Amino acid sequence: MKQTVDELPLNKELTDVLHQLGIKQVNPAYSTGLAWGGQEGRKARTVTSPADGATIATVNMASAEDYDKVVTTAQEAFKVWRKVPAPKRGEIVRQIGDKLREHKEALGKLVSYEMGKIYQEGLGEVQEMIDICDFAVGLSRQLHGFTMHSERPQHRMYEQYHPLGIVGVISAFNFPVAVWSWNAMLAAVCGDVIIWKPSEKTPLTGVACQHIIREVLAENELPEGIFNLIIGDAEIGSLMSHDKRVPLVSATGSTRMGKKVGEAVGARLGKSLLELGGNNAIILTESADMEMALRAIVFGAVGTCGQRCTSTRRLIIHENIYEQVKERLLKVYPNLPIGHPLDATTLVGPLIDKDAVNAFTNALEKVQQEGGKLLTGGEVLSGDGYETGTYVKPAVVEAENHYEMVQEETFAPILYLIKYSGDVENAIELQNGVRQGLSSAIFSTNLLETEAFLGHWGSDCGIANVNIGTSGAEIGGAFGGEKETGGGRESGSDAWRVYMRRQTNTINYSRELPLAQGIKFDIMD
Ligand code: NAD
Repeated sequence: MKQTVDELPLNKELTDVLHQLGIKQVNPAYSTGLAWGGQEGRKARTVTSPADGATIATVNMASAEDYDKVVTTAQEAFKVWRKVPAPKRGEIVRQIGDKLREHKEALGKLVSYEMGKIYQEGLGEVQEMIDICDFAVGLSRQLHGFTMHSERPQHRMYEQYHPLGIVGVISAFNFPVAVWSWNAMLAAVCGDVIIWKPSEKTPLTGVACQHIIREVLAENELPEGIFNLIIGDAEIGSLMSHDKRVPLVSATGSTRMGKKVGEAVGARLGKSLLELGGNNAIILTESADMEMALRAIVFGAVGTCGQRCTSTRRLIIHENIYEQVKERLLKVYPNLPIGHPLDATTLVGPLIDKDAVNAFTNALEKVQQEGGKLLTGGEVLSGDGYETGTYVKPAVVEAENHYEMVQEETFAPILYLIKYSGDVENAIELQNGVRQGLSSAIFSTNLLETEAFLGHWGSDCGIANVNIGTSGAEIGGAFGGEKETGGGRESGSDAWRVYMRRQTNTINYSRELPLAQGIKFDIMD
């Protein structure tokens, strides 16, 4: 069944959004850029909005044959794309950025409606895509390697970076489009072709992005297969991880998923870029500026309804200010505006689905069995506006760092308050005392404390912030984390290098053939 936008049970505003994004049909199983495929005869999946339960689309899940077709098309496209000079590839990305600017409001709304984050955050996500396009355009003129001096006379040595081929991108539901763009725009200027498998929970925003890409490819008469989309679940992700034709798999999601992808890619000695779960803490020392800290804590803990990889999950507070912080939080939490994500007054939208709600309530139950004390929140909301059962009241729990539930990442708005005494090194030890290593922060106006936090004996995370919360990274820095967060880096800085293969070249411009290390190897004529 081909499903058109006008057949969807959506309100007019959202139908208009889909039309603005150029979407006519919502259920292709794959796209090779210019062409769409697999609208019929595939396993169907109904996608509903966590905001109001409306059916947004019934998408088709790609088959193994569809996947194969996409890979073959991508391989052909690579032969053309890699020969396009990098700054010209940058020009294509510039045009994608311009289209994203044009569609920012519509795409932001769709992100908000499909994923459940508030409209402001939906807009922020699209802005992040625009920012990475700008970054990638500049980068397209700077894919540089080093030159070095040879030990041999009249020899020259240098390094260059070449494209890899197909980059597989597996993304998570919570940043349904931004994480793809972080990978895809850098990979594209590097000369790679991309196959994107968005989360099966948020495929429609993937389809929307593919429409935007399609316009640019068509306007520039580029071949299909440079930017590909494949709709599927873990099965397609697994095909990609095992596929030798995909030299790099960039996977964002849970640590559980990352271990499987890492193992499959590792077994074939491919490259993987893993961006996995976090268990992020803010340290509040006695010298913290309380007003600044409170805003960062609440945004970090309840923003995106606690569904950011960088969400603040633990607050490590000095015992002398503990009661004061607790009191302030208990004043703010009960008044948080929870509601429809497209309502301008809302600060906390819904969780993605009922499974996420169950994970939230189970975690609260278990942590209380371990000795944790629920201070506020934890209810699943019902009644007017909350009929979906996906709206919850963010919770604050007094806990200890070693509790099993505190050690886990529960992808929901639960903030654990943990007390520390003595100096900042005790707080840092608690902060580092989890399996994950994504984001961390300290609020302190004492240089000795902040430098201890940033020193090599300080935070063990990929991101360590001072007087800024754990969430809301800029694209200019490399993004990623250590330990069970997977070790990958993407986005800014020199993260582009992972999308390329490195080659060392030595050139002899003499008429002699001296060997390195002075080795003598004369053959008799
Ligand atoms: P998830 O692990 O359930 O799914 C993520 C993606 O992996 C989906 O596209 C899914 O289809 C795919 N997948 C699942 N099993 C797979 C397998 N065996 N092989 C290949 N692909 C597979 O995660 P989610 O619920 O969508 O997202 C939430 C998680 O993502 C959280 O743990 C969060 O911390 C993490 N996350 C991390 C970052 C980061 O940059 N570190 C960013 C966003 C989200």
